[in-house]
Amino acid sequence: MELTSRQETIVEIVKNNGPITGEQIAERLSLTRATLRPDLAILTMAGYLDARPRVGYFYTGKSGTQLLAEKVKHITVKHYQSRPVVVQEAASVYDAICTMFLEDVGSLFVVDKQATLVGVLSRKDLLRASLGKHSLESIPVSIIMTRMPNITVCKADDLITEVAKKLIDKQIDSLPIVTEVDYGSGFEVTGRITKTNITALLVDLANDEMI
Ligand code: ADP
Repeated sequence: MELTSRQETIVEIVKNNGPITGEQIAERLSLTRATLRPDLAILTMAGYLDARPRVGYFYTGKSGTQLLAEKVKHITVKHYQSRPVVVQEAASVYDAICTMFLEDVGSLFVVDKQATLVGVLSRKDLLRASLGKHSLESIPVSIIMTRMPNITVCKADDLITEVAKKLIDKQIDSLPIVTEVDYGSGFEVTGRITKTNITALLVDLANDEMI
């Protein structure tokens, strides 16, 4: 959040003189308390200042970056997820390539007949399979996919920062968002989170439009 010059002056006054009442801040700026009210509300809500009844305003000591970090640490996966695209494990590599193009995604999740997650297919997995001499219609995706239990997953309530770290550490483009089924023995796919979703968060942060 970018502060106006008046808001920056208020922060300076509170930093040097806090605790200080709204009335006293207004006096120093030769403004009325009513004129300052929106600025004080913004600064308090954004976390720059803290207000205590009958005492006044305090400077919280938090920099813009610290406040931003605090905000980001509360964002969960469900705020930035995409729709998952799944294929059956019996589907052919050819079908998977068509699905990837038609659905305009970079990874597919593979499920069994019970809709339980069994694998992941990336663009390069499909490219690699296309280099062989076999007919792509005759190769089931279950042969070339990365399979359970080697799939990195996340839950809708996980923090987006944890997911971003997993994407970097594992050098992958996306994670399936899952819920446990059959008492934790399997996962159902409910969403997808990708590097693009994390980029969308960055754009929202830059425009101060965070969810
Ligand atoms: P690409 O292979 O197109 O660069 P990725 O970096 O996402 O795309 O995938 C790299 C490898 O990691 C692929 O073999 C893919 O099957 C596998 N992979 C992708 N996502 C996951 C995941 N969530 N968990 C485990 N393996 C994954």
